[in-house]
Amino acid sequence: MPSTEAALLQVEGLCSHYGPVRVLSHVSLAVRAGELVAIVGANGAGKSTLLRSLSAVQPKSGGTVRFDGRDISRLPAHRVVAAGVCHVPEGRQVFAPLSVEDNLRLGAYLHRQERAWVERELDRVYTLFPILGERRAQLAGTLSGGQQQMLSIGRALLGRPRLLLLDEPSMGLAPLLVEEIFRVVRELNRSGVTVLLVEQNARAALAIADRGYVLETGRVVLSAAASELLADEGVRRAYLGR
Ligand code: ATP
Repeated sequence: MPSTEAALLQVEGLCSHYGPVRVLSHVSLAVRAGELVAIVGANGAGKSTLLRSLSAVQPKSGGTVRFDGRDISRLPAHRVVAAGVCHVPEGRQVFAPLSVEDNLRLGAYLHRQERAWVERELDRVYTLFPILGERRAQLAGTLSGGQQQMLSIGRALLGRPRLLLLDEPSMGLAPLLVEEIFRVVRELNRSGVTVLLVEQNARAALAIADRGYVLETGRVVLSAAASELLADEGVRRAYLGR
C-alpha cells in the first residue's frame, strides 16, 4: 500500500508472546477503508494471535495499533469493539444454550438503546443469511457448523463494525458452504465494511481479497495485491497446492 494513503487500520511492530515464547515478531500492516485484506499462512503461523491481539482479547508485548488515526493499542477489548472493530473468532464461539436471535441481540449490546437500528440490522442479517431467519428461535448449539459461522458473522455485524476481523471462516466447512460464506464476505465488503480476513484456505481468501499478506512463524514475509500473490510461484508452491 502506498505510504501516502491514510489507513483505517495501521499496525506497526506488533509483538505478542505466550509466556516466554514470541509468536508475533514486529508485524506491520495496513488496511485502507473499504478494502478486503487477507492474511494467509500455514497452521501455527500466528494468524489467530494477530487478530486476538488487534481486538485486545490477548495482550500485546510491543508495537502500536492505530484505528482511524487513533492509538487503540492499550484499549481494553470492549472499547476496541466500541471503536468499531468487531472480531469473528476462530471456531465461531456462539452461545450454544441461547437462541439464534439472542446471540444476535448480544452482538448489539453496545447499541441496545437504538432499538430501531437493532431491528433493521437483524432484518439485514436475516436477509444475508435466510436460514438464520428461519431458525431464529432455535438454540445456537444445535445449528450446523456452517450455520454457526453465519451466526458468528451476523453477531459481529450487530456490533456495527467499521472493520471486521474474520478468523478462518472456512474452517471445517464443506466446499459449497465455503463458497457461500466467501460470497457473503465479499458482499459485506462491497456494502462498505472493511475486512481483515485470516485464512489457511489461501486460494479462496486471495480470490476475494484486494491485497494480501503472507505470515510465516509470526513475521510478515510478503505483501502484495491479491492477484499478484495468486500468481506468485513461491506462494503457489507453499500455500496454493501447486
Ligand atoms: P491455526 O490456523 O492453526 O489457528 P494460526 O496461524 O492462527 O494457526 P495461532 O493459533 O496464532 O496460529 O498460533 C501461533 C503459535 O502460538 C502456535 O505455535 C501455537 O501453538 C501457539 N499458541 C497459540 N495459542 C497458544 C496458547 N494459548 N498458549 C501457548 N501457545 C499458543
